[in-house]
Amino acid sequence: MHIEVIKKQFNDKFGDPAGEVYASPGRINLIGEHTDYNGGFVFPGAIDKGMVAVIRRNGTGRVRAWSVDLQDYAEFTMEESDRPEASWARYIFGVCREMVKRGAQPGGFDTAFAGDVPLGAGMSSSAALESTYAFALNDMFSLGIDKFELARIGQATEHNYVGVKCGIMDQFASLFGKAGHLIRLDTRSMEYKYFPFHPEGYRLVLLDTAVKHELASSAYNKRRESCEHAARVVRENGHPGVEFLRDVTMDMLNEVKEKLSEEDFKRAEYVVGETTRVLAVSDALERDDYETVGRMMYLTHDGMSRLYEVSCEELDFLNDVAKECGVTGSRVMGGGFGGCTINLVKEDLYEGFLAKAKAQFAAKFGHEPKVYEVVISDGARRID
Ligand code: ADP
Ligand code: MG
Repeated sequence: MHIEVIKKQFNDKFGDPAGEVYASPGRINLIGEHTDYNGGFVFPGAIDKGMVAVIRRNGTGRVRAWSVDLQDYAEFTMEESDRPEASWARYIFGVCREMVKRGAQPGGFDTAFAGDVPLGAGMSSSAALESTYAFALNDMFSLGIDKFELARIGQATEHNYVGVKCGIMDQFASLFGKAGHLIRLDTRSMEYKYFPFHPEGYRLVLLDTAVKHELASSAYNKRRESCEHAARVVRENGHPGVEFLRDVTMDMLNEVKEKLSEEDFKRAEYVVGETTRVLAVSDALERDDYETVGRMMYLTHDGMSRLYEVSCEELDFLNDVAKECGVTGSRVMGGGFGGCTINLVKEDLYEGFLAKAKAQFAAKFGHEPKVYEVVISDGARRID
C-alpha cells in the first residue's frame, strides 16, 4: 500500500508534524453463507487489502478528513447535527458518533486515508474504513473500548449512518483478523475460535462477475421468512429447544417435510447442510486437509444455487469453469445474485484456470471477470 503517498498528501493538507498510521483490512468468508440470521457460524479471515489512515490529534473538537482515493475533503464536529454530506465521510462521522453515544470522548483530528479493497466487490471496504478509525481513535485517545465493542461501533455506523442493516461479521473480521488464521464466529453466542489456514501449494483467488442482480433485497427477506417459518414448524413439532435453523438436524427437518412448502423445505435444507459443512471445514482445517475444505465449498455453491436459489448464471458459469479446471474448491461468496466466487486453487493450475475463466466468461458475457488474489493477513493495527 502506498503509505508514502498518504503521508505526503496528509502533510500537504495539514502541515507538519507527521501523524500516526493505522490500518485495517477487508475480509473474505471461506464458508458459512446465509447462516448469520439463522444463529449459525461464519468463517471469515482478514485479507492483505485494506485501508490505511494517517491521523493526528488537532486539539480542537473538529475532524478534518481527506480521502486520497476520491480527492475529496470533509470537515465536521462530533455533534449529531453536523452529519457530513459525502458518503465516505459518514463512515468516519458515524464511528465518532457511536463512540460518543457510548460515553467515550475522542477529540478532534486531522486525517488522510486511502485503501485498496475494491468497492462493493464483497470484501467489505466499508468495514475496513470503519474499523480503521474505530481502532485508531480508541488507541490514540485511550478510550478503553474493547475490540468487540469496536466491531459493534462499526456495525452501528452502517445501521445508523449509512442505512445498511448488516451483521457483525465484516467488522469483526477486520478487527480480529490474524495472519495464517481464519476465525469461526458463532453468530448466536458470539464465541469465536481461530483455525490455522496455511494452504501451502494453494492460492486463494476471487473472481468478480461485476454483476449485481436487482432481486437481492426482496429475495433476501423472503429467504429469511422461509427460515424463520421452518424453524418454528420444527420447534412446534416436539423440539421446543429449537431457536433457529442452526439447531435443526436433517432428521428433524425430514419429520416436518409434509408441513412445509417445497420451497421452505429447500431453503431449510440448505441452511442445515451449511451448518454441517462449517463443522466439517473446522475439522479439516485442524488437519490441513484442504481437499475436504474445497469439497465443502463446492457443496455450498451447489446448495446456494439449487436449494437456496441465490446464485445466478454468471456465478454458476464461473463455478463450472472451476470444476472443469480441477480447482480444489469454488463457490459464490456473499449473499448471492452477483459479486464474486472464491476459489481455492492449486499453484500449478492457477494460471491455466485464470486464463480459461477470463476467456470463457468474456466470450459468454462480454467482459472479463476481475481477479483478486488474497492472502489471509492481520487485522486492525498501528503500523507507524
Ligand atoms: P463494500 O461491499 O466494499 O463494503 P459498500 O458499498 O458497503 O461496499 O462500501 C463502499 C463505500 O465505502 C464507498 O461508497 C465509500 O463511501 C467507502 N469507501 C470504501 N473504500 C473507500 C476508499 N478507498 N476511499 C474512500 N471511501 C471508501
Ligand atoms: Mg460494505
